[in-house]
Amino acid sequence: MKQIAQHYIDGARVAVKPTGEARIHDAATGAPLAAVTFGSEADVGAAVGAARLALSGWRALGARGRVPFLQAIADALEAVSAELAREISREVGMPLKLAQRIQVDAPVAAWRATAALAEEFSFERSVGNSRIVLEPVGVVAAITPWNYPLHQITAKLAPALLAGCTVVLKPSELAPATAVRLMDAVERAGLPRGVLNVVLGGAAVGEALVAHPDVNMLSFTGSTAVGRKIASIAAGDMKRLSMELGGKSAAVVLPGADLGRAIKATLASCFLNSGQTCSATTRLLVPREAYAHCRDLLKEAAASLTLGDPDNAATRVGPLLSAGQKARVLAFIREGEAAGYELLAGGSQAPVPDAGNFVAPTVFGDVPADSRLANEEVFGPVLAVLCYDTPEDAIALANATPYGLAATVWAATPEQGQAVARELRAGQVDVNGGRFNALAPFGGFGMSGVGREGGVFGLEEFLEPKSIQLP
Ligand code: NAD
Repeated sequence: MKQIAQHYIDGARVAVKPTGEARIHDAATGAPLAAVTFGSEADVGAAVGAARLALSGWRALGARGRVPFLQAIADALEAVSAELAREISREVGMPLKLAQRIQVDAPVAAWRATAALAEEFSFERSVGNSRIVLEPVGVVAAITPWNYPLHQITAKLAPALLAGCTVVLKPSELAPATAVRLMDAVERAGLPRGVLNVVLGGAAVGEALVAHPDVNMLSFTGSTAVGRKIASIAAGDMKRLSMELGGKSAAVVLPGADLGRAIKATLASCFLNSGQTCSATTRLLVPREAYAHCRDLLKEAAASLTLGDPDNAATRVGPLLSAGQKARVLAFIREGEAAGYELLAGGSQAPVPDAGNFVAPTVFGDVPADSRLANEEVFGPVLAVLCYDTPEDAIALANATPYGLAATVWAATPEQGQAVARELRAGQVDVNGGRFNALAPFGGFGMSGVGREGGVFGLEEFLEPKSIQLP
């Protein structure tokens, strides 16, 4: 088993004094992959100190002076893209072919797209007699989850670095391969020492980082429960917050929509990365009179999804990250079965490979709106279908959870779809299959978070406006 013991502090690999470890297993086979050595509060202190010292030199370079470093990091990651896709696929369970495209190629492109913002973004502007200067917020604590590790790290680090901030990253201890590759990339890119530091660990390291008085901003992606807890710690000294949290996103199918397309796309979203996706559409809202037809289409579409070996190019759904996640997701499914909801696909008894953390893609039909399945984030391949009577009910149902991360609308025309999209409390709404746009703002309403990532909106999160009034 590979030991991941080196952290990256002040431009050097550091062997930390261990305070604990996480053991990582291959999601598909259960074979041991790696053990991650956790750092301590002292390591967090050293990393924050290095980031603070590096701040003035990094800021002085100016955005255009920082761009070559972002591009060099992208180049270095691209050079190991096949290896990294394989490592993430083994850790997280996403089929390799999809992992290459979504987990690695897209984030590498995002490093470059963020670097390109320097060409068009004005870090200074005038309002009347005021000169507005957008300054880096300072030292950023970036804490990320395991489900799209490089994507989530990139969404924070690339704009933070472009803005002139320095960073201490605490990546998820459950998917560490990306952090190791990132340390290599940062070394190869020749980033000035202290600009980016990586400390590995779990909740204790994360809390030490959030509580550190020399950290100016917390940029967190993860569960709403942890987000709520650490936002209150960060509030102690009014750190700036950016929080990307959980979701229970709705796919709203309006009367007259192309049902076949809507159902195929909803299953693809719900089961992508085995449902381990914050913005997955995990509630399908259909007109009650269309339910019987939907039921047939759902059964047919779910049956066509291949579950199995992530290395097999035909596989669409792989295993879950861990045995713990599998147990958690199966408990949700058993609850739905015990409640007597109509099982349209999968279920706890459906055949799955013996080894690894596989759960069959599961669809429950006509689930009550007040059930746990219709309201709580499962983070596994489970779709809840809800029936509604009028389009107004559909909007109310879609908005009825405390979350508000994403939604899709399927309508007879894009105009009708857009009208409903405007009524939904969700950070991003796709109409009739509108594609993901990496430069559009990504983030949530309500319990799905605070702030936005992506494009100029993501960059502005890391900038503090100062207005200088001129005589
Ligand atoms: P998590 O909240 O358990 O952990 C996220 C990170 O926080 C990890 O690095 C973890 O070590 C750290 N952490 C845990 N406890 C902490 C504490 N007390 N103090 C400081 N840090 C702490 O989430 P996860 O299981 O890694 O990821 C899944 C969750 O993330 C899901 O809820 C999902 O919806 C959410 N998510 C949201 C988005 C988004 O953009 N909105 C994207 C991906 C995942």
